[in-house]
Amino acid sequence: MGATGLVRIDVTDKFSAFVKDHEVEGQNGGVRFFGSLLSVAILAIACGGDGSQDLATQLAAANQEIAEIADAKDALAASNDDLERKIAQLKASLEDKDRLIELFDDEAGFLELLNEQDMGIDELRDRLDVPPQVTQEATIFTMSVHVEGWTGENRNPEKFDRHAEIILAVAHEASQAGGIFSFELSSEFATSFGAKDVVDQLLALGHAIEAHADVGGVGTPSLEELTRQLAVKFKQVQSLGVTPVLVSGICSRGPFVEAAISADFLITTGVVEYCLTSLDATHQPDGWNIGDCPSPAQCHGRPEFSLSQRATPWRTSSSSSWIVPELDGDFLIIVGESGTTVKCLAEDEVGSGGCRYSNKDINEYARLAESYVLHDEQSNDGRCCIFSTTISVGESPPEGFISELINSVSFLVDEGRAEWRTPHQIYLKLVEDAEN
Ligand SMILES: [Zn+2]
Repeated sequence: MGATGLVRIDVTDKFSAFVKDHEVEGQNGGVRFFGSLLSVAILAIACGGDGSQDLATQLAAANQEIAEIADAKDALAASNDDLERKIAQLKASLEDKDRLIELFDDEAGFLELLNEQDMGIDELRDRLDVPPQVTQEATIFTMSVHVEGWTGENRNPEKFDRHAEIILAVAHEASQAGGIFSFELSSEFATSFGAKDVVDQLLALGHAIEAHADVGGVGTPSLEELTRQLAVKFKQVQSLGVTPVLVSGICSRGPFVEAAISADFLITTGVVEYCLTSLDATHQPDGWNIGDCPSPAQCHGRPEFSLSQRATPWRTSSSSSWIVPELDGDFLIIVGESGTTVKCLAEDEVGSGGCRYSNKDINEYARLAESYVLHDEQSNDGRCCIFSTTISVGESPPEGFISELINSVSFLVDEGRAEWRTPHQIYLKLVEDAEN
C-alpha cells in the first residue's frame, strides 16, 4: 500500500503539471495570435496612399505571418487533443489506483500491515477482476517431517530402532506414492548410533535431510547462545553426510533469524505464533498481545496470514522485522500451513487429547493443496507458490495414511500443476528466479 500511495502522489503531481503546462501554452498561443492581428490592423491604418508599395510589402508579410499563425494554431489544436487523451488516460489510471487504495483500506489490522509489503496484490487482482497472468510453473509441494527426539533414544538402540521404523515407514509410503519429504532431525535422533544408516535409506528414497532444532523457546536467549545451539544442530546433520539448508523449530524472543543465518541455515518453515514475539512492537499485529504468548507450547498456532502470504516465501535478515520482506534478506521464510500438523488440519479446536489422524485431515489437505495450486495459476508472482505442510513423528501415523495423503493430491502432480521438491531444490529455484 505504501508503494501504491507513492504512485498516487506521483501521478497527481504529474497530472497537475500536465494541466498547468497545457493552460500556459494555450494562453500564450492566444496572446500571440491576437497580438499579431492587432499589429496588422495598426500597420494598415498607419500607412497612407504614398506608402502603398511599403504597405503592400507589409501586408504580404502580415498575411504570411497570419498563415504561419494559423498553422501554429492547428498544431496547437492537435497537441491539445493529444494532451486531452493523455489527461483522460491519467484520470482513468488514477481512478484505478483509488479503487486499489480503497480495497487496501478495507483490509483490517494485521492483514493491512502485511499488505503494506505489497503481498496482497493477487487478492486485489482477483477482486478487481483483472485477468490473471497464467504462469507455467508448477506449484511446489513440500512436507516437513519433524523427527522429534524420543528421550534417551541416543543411548537406547532398541528405542531408536522403534523410532527409526516409524520414520522409514513414513518415508516408504511417501516415496511409493510419489512424494518427496523433508526429514528434519532432532539432536536426539541425529546423535543416535543408527542415525547414519537411516539417513542413507531416506536419501536413497529421494527424501531430504534437514534440521529440527526446538531451541530458543525459553526466556530471551542471546545471539551468541542461539547461534551456538543452531551451529551444533547444523554439524550434527552434516556429520551424517548431508549439508542442511533448512531448520525448523527456531522461533524465539531472541534473535533467531540472525542466529540461523550465522549458523549457515538458509530457510525456515514451521512459523508459529510464538515467532511474533521477536518482532518490534511496531511490527506486531494490531490487537495481538505478546503477554498472551508465554511459550512455544502455549503459542504454537499460526499467525493470521492470507493465502497469498502463506503461499509466497519471502526473505528477511532481522528477527525484529521478519514479517516485512527484504529483497536481499539472507534467510527465507516459508509459512505455508505451518502451525498445524497434518493430523490437526480438520480440527478447529485442538482439545487436551490432541488431534487424531483421520480421513477429514486428508480431505482438508487436498482442499488446501488445490487452493494453493489455483492461487498459483492466478498469480503473476514468480516466488509463488509453495504448499508447505508439517507432520510430527513423534507418534506413528496409521498405516496407509501417508499413501492416501499423497494420493489425494497426485492428480495435481500428474497434470503437471504441482511438483514435490526438497528444501534445497526450492532454494536453488528461488535464487535462480531472483537472478533472472
Ligand atoms: Zn519439535
